[in-house]
Amino acid sequence: MTDSGCIFCEIISDKAEASIVFQDDFVTAFMDAFPVNPGHTLVVPNQHSPDLAGLDELHAGKMIQLARKLAGALRASSLRCEGVNLLLADGPVAGQTVFHVHLHVIPRFIGDPCGIRLHTEPPAAPAREQLDAHAAAIKRALDA
Ligand SMILES: [Zn+2]
Repeated sequence: MTDSGCIFCEIISDKAEASIVFQDDFVTAFMDAFPVNPGHTLVVPNQHSPDLAGLDELHAGKMIQLARKLAGALRASSLRCEGVNLLLADGPVAGQTVFHVHLHVIPRFIGDPCGIRLHTEPPAAPAREQLDAHAAAIKRALDA
């Protein structure tokens, strides 16, 4: 299933240009057009889904399996890679800008310009009761 007007669907079906790293029946990996570091690769399911929750488990699993292989390949390649970050931005508030779910595989090295900031300073640890309440809220939604 593809979505007309989706740039990633166009890349998957070879209607738009990209530097393809890997493609099979389930997933495609290609170079990010705006890499934060050399070797920054995107893994996308061949099935169009705007968000992660809408993606079936088979394609979600194939994405992480390919990301695992790419992380090893990046480290073994001639590109500088001393570590790897995986990043999936799910929703505009999370930084998603292309609405076909995709997993960033980002090679990292000491002194690189890439940074992932979760907090401006370490937050105080919440009380156990608050963590338990959050766990219960998510568990209810999982069980629904
Ligand atoms: Zn798409």
